[in-house]
Parts: sequence; C-alpha cells; structure tokens
Amino acid sequence: MKKHNFYAGPSILSEYTIQNTADAIINFAGTGLSVLEVSHRSKEFQAVIDEATALVKELLDVPEGFHVLWLGGGASMQFCMLPFNLLRKKASYLDTGTWAANAIKEARLFGEVDVVASSKDANYTFIPKDFTVPADSDYFHYTSNNTIYGTEIRVDPDVPCPLVADMSSDIFSRPIDFSKYDAVYAGAQKNLAPAGVTLVIVREDALGKVDRPIPTMLDYRTHIKKGSMFNTPPVLPIFSALQTLRYYKQLGGLPELERRDLAKASALYDAIDSSKMFEGTVTNPADRSIMNVCFVMTPEYKELEAEFVNFCAGRGIVGIKGHRSVGGFRASLYNALPMESVQVLIEAMKDFEATH
Ligand SMILES: *Cc1c(COP(=O)(O)O)cnc(C)c1O
Repeated sequence: MKKHNFYAGPSILSEYTIQNTADAIINFAGTGLSVLEVSHRSKEFQAVIDEATALVKELLDVPEGFHVLWLGGGASMQFCMLPFNLLRKKASYLDTGTWAANAIKEARLFGEVDVVASSKDANYTFIPKDFTVPADSDYFHYTSNNTIYGTEIRVDPDVPCPLVADMSSDIFSRPIDFSKYDAVYAGAQKNLAPAGVTLVIVREDALGKVDRPIPTMLDYRTHIKKGSMFNTPPVLPIFSALQTLRYYKQLGGLPELERRDLAKASALYDAIDSSKMFEGTVTNPADRSIMNVCFVMTPEYKELEAEFVNFCAGRGIVGIKGHRSVGGFRASLYNALPMESVQVLIEAMKDFEATH
C-alpha cells in the first residue's frame, strides 16, 4: 500500500530525491563507484557540493556577502556554534518552543541572553507579539517554525538588530529577506535531505568580532575557508540535498513551493475547523504553521484518539501521532508531501467522524 508520510522529521523526501540517491548508491555519476565510497575530494563530489551551494543561493536569493555552509552536528550544534561565533556581549532570544529553549540554554554559556518573550506558560500554543528587542543586542534569535507545537513566524521580524533564525522545519517554504539577517540555519531532515547535514547561511561581516578563542571545528571561518571541506562533510546527505534542490528548481522555486504549502495547510485546517470531532491546538489562527499541523480530539471524543491513529494506519497514513508534549495529532506537510496525501487524511477524518 502507498504510504502517506506525515512524520515530523526525519520526514518525507521527494521521489526524485530518493530515486536519484538510490541510483547513486549503486553507481555515482558514472564513476562505477557508490556515492557511499567516493572521496569527498573527488571532482565528481566537488561538482555536487558546488551545485548544491549555487542552488541554495539561487532558490533563496542569497545576496553577496553571505556564505553557504554544509556542516555536521545537526541544528542542535548550531545552538552553541552560532553564539560561539556571533555573541559578543548580549543577544536576544524569543522562546517559542523546545528548540528555542534549547538554543537559549546554549547561548547562556557565551554571554548575556535576554529572553524577550515566552509562551511557555501556555505550552507554546501561540507566538508572543508584545516584546521589545534591545537595540544593543548582537542579534535576535527566533525559531521560524516550531515543529513540535505547530506555530510559525512567516514574516521576517522587524527589530533594531540583526536577525538569526533556526529555520530547520520551514526553510524553502517562503522567501527570506537576507538584508535583515546575520545567519540562518536548518537541519536537513525536514525539508531538504536525510539527517546528517545542516545548512548554515552566514554573513561575512558578522564574523571575527568576538574575543574568545573558537575551537577550529566550531569556527565558521574554518569551514568558509575550506568550502565545507575542512574535514569530511556528510557526503550522502549533501548528495541528496542537491537532488531536492534540483527538484525544487524544476517545480518553479520558492513561489511554487509556498503556493503548494499554503494550499495543503489551508485544506487541512479547513477540515479541522469544520469538524465537530477535531480541533486545532494553536490558539491564534494567525500563528498556525503551514508545515506542522497540530490538532486534538474535542473533549467528548478524546478517548478515540488512539483508535483514530489505527484507523489512519489502515489507510496507509503514518506519522500523525502528536509529539508527547502536545498529545493528539501532528500532520507534517513538508514540501515533498503531495496534496493527495492531505486529501487522504482529510477523507479519513471525515469517514472516522461519520462512523462515530
Ligand atoms: C528538528 C529541529 C531541530 C533539531 O535538529 P537536529 O538536527 O536534530 O539537531 C532544531 N530546531 C528545529 C526547529 C527543528 O525542527
């Protein structure tokens, strides 16, 4: 049976990405070798990383003065690597979820951290709006999409200092105004590639301003100087990322990706809002994520949640169980998920409701 993959991460990749990766695992670029067993210094792999870097710049419209890096360690590594390189004295952070809180915890190791607002007391069911970012902040860090709680900031905030964003779960779903940013980072395993590589886009001018010594591997300048080849980069995830980027370009780039993402999310939110059995968990509809749709059963049907997950499994729908800190359901609608899968889920919700 065809599976409809709603996992939050690692998550669905395009068939194009999977097929081309599978082919290259057998024979990479006509070398007669698997992509798993070639040197990262080979000219064939150099071509891969060069094209992937160029496509990131093209698709996201990254201006001159920024570097695109392919690093290991996951987005979680960036929680410390970023302040290591950019936090001189004070940084401001917005606490909108578990990942934001993890980033705050690490930043505190490097300087003063001003948490300008938090929705923790409301289990992160909304995005705080009333806050002031001190102008003397080295940067303002926010999490553009809160993967666990289903909230999202889709407009680059206006603050009196440079922005830094963890875009792990919504990169390539909207344009980014880089003029406002010092850095953007994203673990690959939601909208780009298999786990193992993290995309970092950092402004040249923001570097070299801290006084502390930075370990070689954690210094962005090391990886800039060596074109992400200071040490062995995650070869296979970068290869897969290139396939996804080619696929995104073929589709029509960000405008088409965003159009599809908005259409999928609005179809599912409409189904939730028009149902008596389901309700969304995000309190302000304007904060709803178009990537991770979190919902629960209304109190009178609550005990049917486990049964619904099984019902969905019977239709090939996988990965909709909510994160343990929210409960209920979470349908992740990443770029590679087709509208057809959303329709199948909506159909399952309607049929389940009709039989209860
Ligand atoms: C998944 C996720 C992370 C963690 O990524 P790792 O690569 O596992 O470290 C961080 N931030 C956000 C927003 C995420 O969705």
